[in-house]
Amino acid sequence: MESVEKTAAAGPAPVIVAIDGPSGTGKSSTSKAVAAQLGLSYLDTGAQYRAITWWMVHTGIDLTDPSAIAAAAGKPEIVSGTDPSAPTITVDGTDVAGPIRTGEVTSKVSAVSAVPEVRARITELQRSIAAAAQDGIVVEGRDIGTTVLPDADLKIFLTASPEARAARRSGELKGADVSATREALIKRDAADSSRKTSPLAKAGDAVEVDTTELTLQQVIECVVTLVEEKRAGK
Ligand code: C5P
Repeated sequence: MESVEKTAAAGPAPVIVAIDGPSGTGKSSTSKAVAAQLGLSYLDTGAQYRAITWWMVHTGIDLTDPSAIAAAAGKPEIVSGTDPSAPTITVDGTDVAGPIRTGEVTSKVSAVSAVPEVRARITELQRSIAAAAQDGIVVEGRDIGTTVLPDADLKIFLTASPEARAARRSGELKGADVSATREALIKRDAADSSRKTSPLAKAGDAVEVDTTELTLQQVIECVVTLVEEKRAGK
């Protein structure tokens, strides 16, 4: 009897949502808002790759040498806070939320994230965070639906034209030159899509949402509806 009452009182089953796609498609804003609206945790996996890159730059690791990157991959302790209204990221106890967004880290993160030892380390961390999220979690990145959480309940792949993505990113960077931002985005996406280990890719069972002509609010509503349909078993 007691267990029946407990089951009846419990909320919806935890739901795991994987949101992948290239830069500037609105992944972070969408994932945070969807998680907040549905009472789920939120994980920004790009921030973790940026954090390990920041630590390697800060420590003086030679980022032109993949074996040096591999040898250092297990050293820093990376901790992600998963509250969608106030996500955090620390390396060895230092708050790096600001420093991981610099141009230097952005230009070097693809070289670091391509190293298999880095991916193995960060993937393990991501899986343990997702497993610990009692109410469910929205995890955003490049390889979440294909590699990190292939059994996710719902997989979304966000896309947008290069022009729309560059315009959004340069807006976020407060007036950065749109054509330079476009070139940098295309270069980073090409590196992320062509690496050997878990490249940026759409999972076969992902729902693709082209955000080029949509407002952020429309993308959020679309993803919330998809999660609710999934929960309702449609
Ligand atoms: O999402 P964001 O632009 O912050 O990601 C930074 C970089 O981290 C990407 O360009 C990519 O190199 C790497 N990344 C990855 N796999 C993920 C998330 C991010 O390789 N799941």
